[in-house]
Amino acid sequence: MSKIPYKIYLSEEEMPKQWHNIRAEMKELPDPFINPATLKPCTADDLAPVFCKELVEQELNVTDKYIDIPKGILDFYKMYRPSPLVRAYELEKKLDTPAKIYYKFEGTNTSGSHKLNSAAAQVYYAKQQGLTHLTTETGAGQWGTALSMACAYYGIDLTVYMVKVSAEQKPYRKAVIETYGGKVIPSPSETTEIGRKILAENPGTGGSLGCAISEAMEVALKTPNCRYVLGSVLNHVVLHQSVIGMEVKKACEKYDIQPDVIIGCAGGGSNLGGLISPFMADKINGKNNIEFIAVEPASCPSLTRGKYAFDFGDTGKTTPLMRMYTLGSGFMPSPNHAGGLRYHGMSPIVSKLYHDGYLTARAVEQTKVFEAAVMFARCEGTLPAPESSHAIRVAVDEALKCKETGEAKTIVFGLTGTGYFDMSAYMAYHDGRMNDYVPSDEDLEKGFATLPQVNL
Ligand SMILES: *Cc1c(COP(=O)(O)O)cnc(C)c1O
Repeated sequence: MSKIPYKIYLSEEEMPKQWHNIRAEMKELPDPFINPATLKPCTADDLAPVFCKELVEQELNVTDKYIDIPKGILDFYKMYRPSPLVRAYELEKKLDTPAKIYYKFEGTNTSGSHKLNSAAAQVYYAKQQGLTHLTTETGAGQWGTALSMACAYYGIDLTVYMVKVSAEQKPYRKAVIETYGGKVIPSPSETTEIGRKILAENPGTGGSLGCAISEAMEVALKTPNCRYVLGSVLNHVVLHQSVIGMEVKKACEKYDIQPDVIIGCAGGGSNLGGLISPFMADKINGKNNIEFIAVEPASCPSLTRGKYAFDFGDTGKTTPLMRMYTLGSGFMPSPNHAGGLRYHGMSPIVSKLYHDGYLTARAVEQTKVFEAAVMFARCEGTLPAPESSHAIRVAVDEALKCKETGEAKTIVFGLTGTGYFDMSAYMAYHDGRMNDYVPSDEDLEKGFATLPQVNL
């Protein structure tokens, strides 16, 4: 077997032609979405006014293990995929660890993150259906950027509700979205009923993903030929992100790499769900014993301190009810810099795997995350996104554990993106102005109090 190269790239022929649907492999399925009006499981007809038809089918598909990636999407993927699986030789040296560390780097496209994998798919299907307009929310801005790139490519108009604090912290994100033709509105805004209501109740709020989702959905429902698209949480987004895991699996097989630990940061759970998907299938089928670790910010700890309950996906309580780990749709996260991880809930797939013990979770504090980010940037060269750096933190902790025990574990983590638009957060860290806000139990109770009381 040849020496493992610094970067493993698959050839065009080796690139996955199918997504992997982990639900078809799970012993027990996540609970179905519930229509809050009827308290019955959502049907395709319930979801069709909000989402594209093909995406609704994927959302409800629990039987097909593999789903073909249409050629129109593969052509787009080819512009920036495959992404490299990198052996972190320099980080290993720096940590003086016997562990072997690999990261799958999804930041090699202009949007700077993995989100383009699902943006391309969602916009493609919207175009196929003859839609002309899409709305969405964006937190840190990565999703809005990815979507604007896909909308420019496939030819669809886009309105992005951008969480107000992010819009203020990251004006250049807005400029990139506008470069690709997207329209940006800071949320909460005066342009929607729910936005006006939220502003009246919380004047001066910096907004949240939950608010922005409500606004984008309201506009989608009121605009002809328009649908809403979401960048995480939902089953079809995890499905599209499985392209990450499929590539990693192929690369591992090619070089006979056997991961012992796989780590991903978790906001809504899509990159983590996609990264672990094919490996998790093997674990479920007794073919490996990989430890899977989800990493979340201590300021927004849905998995480690949330409740496994039916909840709305948005603050305006307009989405179907999903059973997931949640802090309550009324939870207002503190302005943590990792905007992409500030979400009250978690993918129902990731939640179920966690609930059933296939996956563990850790919450980490912001300054520790940036300490790892800076170390990584200095030895591996890539400037990581704050979200991704949550995974770096835990990969470093695991590698340091190996140093103590002498175990030469193979650690794989998802490096979801680059941090060029997060320099105000890096500046706060360098200047010692960054603090580690951790909500008290009392703070969390306020969020839990907003959980819907449903007897199913
Ligand atoms: C959005 C984002 C995340 C978190 O989203 P998931 O759905 O949990 O994957 C992580 N990293 C980056 C760079 C992001 O943009």
